[in-house]
Amino acid sequence: MAPLFLRSWIAVPLLALAACGGLQPEPTATPDFVIRDAAVVIQSDAAFTRSADFPARVESTLQAALGYWGGNWSNLAGTTIVFEGTSNVACAGNVGSTGCYDGDIRLSTLDAGRTVSCVEATVLVHEVGHAVIGDAGHTDPRWMDFTALAQDLVGRPGYDSSGPTSCDPVANVWRHPPRG
Ligand SMILES: [Zn+2]
Repeated sequence: MAPLFLRSWIAVPLLALAACGGLQPEPTATPDFVIRDAAVVIQSDAAFTRSADFPARVESTLQAALGYWGGNWSNLAGTTIVFEGTSNVACAGNVGSTGCYDGDIRLSTLDAGRTVSCVEATVLVHEVGHAVIGDAGHTDPRWMDFTALAQDLVGRPGYDSSGPTSCDPVANVWRHPPRG
């Protein structure tokens, strides 16, 4: 038994070292897919998250949002984006959030209690803004003007539990008035 015990004792620090030098910190869950260096986790039954075009839609929405905020893919490197089927997501210091950025992005797939029909109608665009410019107080005027970006994302298909529907990227979902 002694050699066996010795081997397992040696294995522990080796495993710890591997975790330390791993490519990712403790993931919140196994990613459903990865876009560039950002992981995406689906914890929602919303039809759009189950659609075959979902990864491409997330990528093109991220691309448009990064363009709007003057960022690039490096702003999202190592970020995990979690789509959650609950009305609110956990966000330190904020109660009732539909989205959160704290290094990772968490998003509700509901808006006012109704499941939205596409990724463009979530607050993803807003949270990408925090990833690029920070500005937790929402003092930048861009938080209130998403018109050009919304026009770029309009006209895409949406999905609900009974089939295809419309997708309305609602700019006011992304807006946030400056905190007083
Ligand atoms: Zn915000």
